[in-house]
Amino acid sequence: MTLQATNPQTSCADPEPSSTLRVAAAREAIQSGIKPILTTERLALRDALGRVLAQPIISPLDVPGHTNSAMDGYALKGSDLQSSSITSFKLIGTSVAGQPFPGHCQSGECIRIMTGAPMPEGADTVIMQEQAKLDETQMVSFTSQHKQGQNVRHAGEDIAKGSRVLEPGRRLTAADLGVMASLGFGEVSVRRRPRVAFFSTGDELRGIGESLREGDVYDSNRYSLYGMLKNCGVHLLDMGVIKDDPEALRQAFQAAAEEADMVISSGGVSVGEADYTKKILQQLGEIHFWKIAMKPGRPLAFGELGQTRFFGLPGNPVAVMVTFYQFVLPAIHYMATGKPYQPFILTAVCHDALRKRPGRYEFIRGVFSTGDDGQLSVESVGQQGSGILTSMSRGNCFILLPESCAGVSEGDRVEIQPFASLSLE
Ligand code: AMP
Ligand code: MG
Repeated sequence: MTLQATNPQTSCADPEPSSTLRVAAAREAIQSGIKPILTTERLALRDALGRVLAQPIISPLDVPGHTNSAMDGYALKGSDLQSSSITSFKLIGTSVAGQPFPGHCQSGECIRIMTGAPMPEGADTVIMQEQAKLDETQMVSFTSQHKQGQNVRHAGEDIAKGSRVLEPGRRLTAADLGVMASLGFGEVSVRRRPRVAFFSTGDELRGIGESLREGDVYDSNRYSLYGMLKNCGVHLLDMGVIKDDPEALRQAFQAAAEEADMVISSGGVSVGEADYTKKILQQLGEIHFWKIAMKPGRPLAFGELGQTRFFGLPGNPVAVMVTFYQFVLPAIHYMATGKPYQPFILTAVCHDALRKRPGRYEFIRGVFSTGDDGQLSVESVGQQGSGILTSMSRGNCFILLPESCAGVSEGDRVEIQPFASLSLE
């Protein structure tokens, strides 16, 4: 893995130090350090929901399989509608789904037909029943104008036999399950889920149910990490809390690296803090400690422990979530699918003035909504401190203020990233 620190190229008065990495550069470096998982397994169709497809789905049949009616009505020869001598049609039979009309439709004849029923031979047009009058002699006449070929669905118009319907690397949706079922697939080949081990570090951390001494805090990062990882569809390995102790940390890193494709820790990556973490990681693998020009979430470690990729996230609860969403989630997506992550970004009118200095990327927690005028608008949740975890609960999006931004005035348009899009399943 090669890596270059990038200077933020802005006109800001108070630039970040030159060792600081821009957000985009960190994302690129991470992606180039990740190998997509190629191992596959076969699953029953329903179990494949949310999983990554490993094979192309090529249609063994036409969908629909036969040309059929899009309406309840009457099927007839469209060319008859131009004929001045035909004013009414003789009703000669019925075609319903599952029981097609066995005969042939001749000129001047029509067949009662239900939605989805196969078109009788000779007929190419359907007139809906609301526009038809049937008399007691079984003759049908039609009100209003009609076009030859109307109200007919053609064989293969949705999916043609032999066509590629779904491509490998795609995460399967509910619609995809339906599409594959319509083609008769009972099983599909999917990629193995990434195995992700995670733990918290810190002598001050207590588990739920333990009593808190002066200065202790409950370990919350493992719960927010659990939730975010669960929404990424990975296989989870929760390794608990590890003390700020060199031997305990070494064992945790080693055990995690043996089991997992990716290891995520939180805490202990601040500058000057617990130097042995740095030493151990550098002995066990190849790790970079980065200062990223962003707020919150400045320190981040990324690297390799053998075949396993390692993320050392900051300890602050908001910073954990922001760095996870901005770096780890794209990395998991790439590992799982082999495709670069495309963030889902909208624009909204900002109802607050936001102070910011250029040179670093800020991820403000906001609430967006649609106003009476149909426009998306967004406002800050208020308190933005990196320990204020409720800002992530109250917010429903990040307001994205990139490095070059020098602040936002009320009424400016800003980019937002909805939290609801930060899930891979
Ligand atoms: P650190 O990066 O280890 O210096 O931690 C920064 C801050 O985040 C400190 O106030 C820690 O107590 C807090 N913190 C670290 N890990 C956790 C955790 N797992 N749960 C809650 N707070 C944490
Ligand atoms: Mg700590």
